[in-house]
Amino acid sequence: MRIMIDGRYLPGSARVNRDLLITLRNMAQVLNWGIRYDAQKELVLINSKNSSMPPLPTEYLTDERNEDENARLAGKVVCVDPGHGGSDPGALGPTGTMEKDNTLAIALLLKEKLEKNGATVVMTRDSDTNVAFAEATANEELSARVEAANQAEADLFISIHNDAFTSNTAAGTTTFHYGNKESVKLANLVQRNLADKLGTKNRGARFASFYVLRYTNMPSILIETAFISNPVEEMLLSSVDGRDNAAESICDGILKYFKV
Ligand SMILES: [Zn+2]
Repeated sequence: MRIMIDGRYLPGSARVNRDLLITLRNMAQVLNWGIRYDAQKELVLINSKNSSMPPLPTEYLTDERNEDENARLAGKVVCVDPGHGGSDPGALGPTGTMEKDNTLAIALLLKEKLEKNGATVVMTRDSDTNVAFAEATANEELSARVEAANQAEADLFISIHNDAFTSNTAAGTTTFHYGNKESVKLANLVQRNLADKLGTKNRGARFASFYVLRYTNMPSILIETAFISNPVEEMLLSSVDGRDNAAESICDGILKYFKV
């Protein structure tokens, strides 16, 4: 959320918070300020001269705002890891769709969205290949993914997977972390966005001791986007909209994470 007083932005960006909004509204009442809250743009406008409502800034009609948005992740390096690939298809859906294809499609969309916001994106793979080398073992694959993130000194590591279970009724979205504070924070933000936007059951942000979470040096999460073993979610995961919504929610979660 940003705060603009008399047409000028306050430096920094505060977290959206009900108490802060109420405090600002009460201050406005007492001090006879005009105040306006634009929820969509996460902007509080204050007119300290009199109690009339401040107008929306004209920059919303120009490209200036976009330029500003483009820089929101400037200087950040995000390592995006599409699960499986090459000789490892991951889990298979009831109609034969492959986890490795869904994870790559979501990851490529995520890359695009992160780059639009100014981030540098390091992909562990950007096509249907193994990460270490052709026919690499599962362990070789995992350590190659960790190495890619650590070598790039990425600020975040985002591993994308699809969940699977023997029963085809299992459903929902889960985001895993390895328990450190920053990873938990990131996992919570991404998880909430994902379940909301995909309309899937929110299975929560949870602890897991996955290799890629244990050995990466930066805040890291592993996302089980939805269940490929569930016929409805299989469709969601292979659809253009489902993939785009997943990427969008992950990107939004990352933007929220970096907002102080
Ligand atoms: Zn997987």
